[in-house]
Amino acid sequence: MPIKVLESEVVAKIAAGEVVERPASAVKELIENSLDAGATQIAVEAQGGGVELIKVSDNGEGIPASELELAFHRYATSKIGDLSDLEKISSLGFRGEALPSIAAVAEVEILTQTPSETIGSYLHLRKGEVVGKESRARPQGTTVTVRRLFRYFPARLKFLKSVNTENSHIANLVSQYALAFPEVKFSLVLDKRPSLRTTGNGDLREVISEIYGSEIAQRMLKVERKDGLAEVGGLTSPPSLARSNRNYLSFFVNRRWVRSPLLARATEEAYRGLLMDGQHPVTVIDISLPAQELDVNIHPAKAQIKFCHEQTVFGSVQRAIEEVLARTPIASSKTVPFSVSPALSSLSAGWQSPRMIMDNEPTFVVAQLPTMELPVLRVLGQIANTYITAEGPDGLYLIDQHAAHERILYDRISAQWAQKEVEVQGLLQPITIELSPREEETLRASKEFLAEFGFTIEHFGNRSYMIRAIPALMARANIIEIITALLDNLASKEPNPWEEKVAQSLACHGAIRAGQQLSNEEMRELIKQLEQTKQPRACPHGRPTMIHLSSHQLEKEFGRIS
Ligand code: ADP
Ligand code: MG
Repeated sequence: MPIKVLESEVVAKIAAGEVVERPASAVKELIENSLDAGATQIAVEAQGGGVELIKVSDNGEGIPASELELAFHRYATSKIGDLSDLEKISSLGFRGEALPSIAAVAEVEILTQTPSETIGSYLHLRKGEVVGKESRARPQGTTVTVRRLFRYFPARLKFLKSVNTENSHIANLVSQYALAFPEVKFSLVLDKRPSLRTTGNGDLREVISEIYGSEIAQRMLKVERKDGLAEVGGLTSPPSLARSNRNYLSFFVNRRWVRSPLLARATEEAYRGLLMDGQHPVTVIDISLPAQELDVNIHPAKAQIKFCHEQTVFGSVQRAIEEVLARTPIASSKTVPFSVSPALSSLSAGWQSPRMIMDNEPTFVVAQLPTMELPVLRVLGQIANTYITAEGPDGLYLIDQHAAHERILYDRISAQWAQKEVEVQGLLQPITIELSPREEETLRASKEFLAEFGFTIEHFGNRSYMIRAIPALMARANIIEIITALLDNLASKEPNPWEEKVAQSLACHGAIRAGQQLSNEEMRELIKQLEQTKQPRACPHGRPTMIHLSSHQLEKEFGRIS
């Protein structure tokens, strides 16, 4: 094909594809516009995962009638004027691309009124073309309605996940902006159900309570630190309150929500030695920097930014969090990273139960791969409360107790599920759990599926749920932790089938941890059970459960043979 300049419709779609990756990206752009317009109230509504409908209403400054059509032109913006402005951006938007991009892939209506006008203006666009225009009344502010997103962009429509997945992205997005702007009153309605509502009274702790529940909110510690370059503020969890993934890390730079591996690392560095492997803090951090200190123009959807002085910002965040943690009494455990926490002791109680179930469950037989088989091992002891040492016919074995138990639980859970014989344990005292809007969306999508694994979870009111029954294999483990980890796992993008994700997650969070002291009898039992698994040498994630040093290797190492 000869080279030619693309038609403007094609160009618009290509650009739109970058800005509007999925429905939540359109919601993001519209919320940012509302915030830039100085809104103190923002109401978001979505239907059908945002594909059917997205509606964002604000009480911001509005758009004058004379400029309304212009707002839908590519690179039309009221936020920057010339090149020098680009170096000190203080608004969330500046590219002038959002409205035209959304309009290029959907049907858009906008109704807006400025305080100085006596009547508002309304515009209706289809495929980026104006199809309706009139004067219409509205209180001050702007409402943008987006229908049939990606209808004119079937390639993208095909890649969207289920309605529930898209809803959960929208729920997460609105939650993040609510955390970034506690002084703005946000509301979110998903498929006509109220999902989130904040008061806009400026109290971050209240917003956290709304999103993550009151227990987390109460325990969060205040972060406040200013140095030469950056001002770091927000709330972060004490080491005793941790989560199994990084979904609970929120970073805002000059109030822009960013996904920053750098800031995540700085935070985790501050918690080093305070959290067990695989645990992550709950953190909501806002960093204020002079605008020249960052480049926000490196990503079409403005999700990433670049710091001029990365290492300095890294240090500021790390120290700000370290200072808070140092002031909390629990931080003394820094020198003893593996001290027994309440979470551990509850798991230790849970640890007793698998054995009983094992004894009266003769149906559970798994064919063994001969090469994988374990020889008979004699337990010698435990190292660092984490590894079991054992002797076999051919040398020394070091067994990772967590990985080994994970393998055992994983095999049992999968087998019970496959045979439709999941052992269920009813709870005499149901456990209540408060879910975030995103977790709630995931639960809605997976409730029946989780029931197959033995969970009975009932709606209790608002975003509270009652857990009435759990898989017996998880008896007395930390159920709240297990459920949150499970919902996070199910929401994640990995391609695993669901049952795999559930089994892995349950195994991982139900298994004894590194750092837990085991009696000789418990160690023997663990190894006995490990011998009966399909793949005793690897945990479900594929990491080794053990290291084997053969007699030959030992002799070589000690120079007995060459
Ligand atoms: P950008 O935000 O990068 O300027 P957009 O395409 O998102 O580009 O919006 C174009 C312009 O329309 C903005 O610069 C602003 O002047 C106006 N605008 C968009 N949404 C709103 C809103 N909710 N309230 C007031 N003005 C708005
Ligand atoms: Mg914008």
